[in-house]
Amino acid sequence: MAWTRTGKKKDMPGGLWIKCESCGAMLFRKEFEQKQRVCGPCGYHFTLPGRERIALTADPGSFEERFTELMPADRLGFNDKVPYDQKLAQTQQKTGETDALIAGTATIKGIPCVLAVMNFQFLGGSMGMVVGEKVARAAELAAEIGHPLIVFSCSGGARMHEGAVSLMQMAKTCGALALLNRKGGVSISVMTHPTTGGVTASFASVCDFLLAEPGALLGFAGPRVIATTIKKELPKGFQRAEFLLEKGQVDRIVGRAQMRDELARLLAYATGRDPVAAFKPAPAVAVEPIVAPEPPPEEPEQKPKRARKPKKA
Ligand SMILES: [Zn+2]
Repeated sequence: MAWTRTGKKKDMPGGLWIKCESCGAMLFRKEFEQKQRVCGPCGYHFTLPGRERIALTADPGSFEERFTELMPADRLGFNDKVPYDQKLAQTQQKTGETDALIAGTATIKGIPCVLAVMNFQFLGGSMGMVVGEKVARAAELAAEIGHPLIVFSCSGGARMHEGAVSLMQMAKTCGALALLNRKGGVSISVMTHPTTGGVTASFASVCDFLLAEPGALLGFAGPRVIATTIKKELPKGFQRAEFLLEKGQVDRIVGRAQMRDELARLLAYATGRDPVAAFKPAPAVAVEPIVAPEPPPEEPEQKPKRARKPKKA
């Protein structure tokens, strides 16, 4: 965070400190990143960029990306302030990704799987033709090679710029998952904050195992839209992972630090291996402790800089 002259806070992504979106604590960036972008004081799980998620989940060097030839297209000539094709080009340039999902094969604790990870950094993880097609192809690949499929979701929903084509992805991905199911394959959905709209209403909710990260907002329409429509106050914790676990819509809540162990256990179970052996946590790696400097003060005094007096000759 940087401070402006008026004392208002200004986001500065490259800064030493970041503020927790949930509890407001000032987090030392280096320590925060070492804790896999989880807030130390309150446990809030920040949204994780797709490539970081893969690095945290897959065995080092095991991920082999697939379907990179799939590119989005502006079929409707959609224009929302900026034409969609321009927006795509800008986002591709900024993120270095072609679209909002990265898919491929990997191993987790030595067990092979097909891994598909949504990337919120790309147009809010919205689902258009490429996201849908990659999920469908990942499910078909899992059915073909006989490895379980893991999908990490993080999405604002269907991509409005692609109109009905984006909605079609809901049926297509569910169809591909049904095929995987018929062939005896196993699918695992991990819903992370936030998973909403057409993604929740399709592939993220129809896998065999439904996991969620703590505190994740998971739903179709947002809570504000629902409250306005039904003109009622919503219950506490509505659409949060813990609320949905209680209602039976989520099977298990798994913290980021335990996710790899939990996935390895499920993969072992799904492929007839020994789940107990797979669940053994990896030996602890000695990590150099990070000593955080003093955080910036909440309300620093804004002293106007005084002009230096010219030195007397
Ligand atoms: Zn926090």
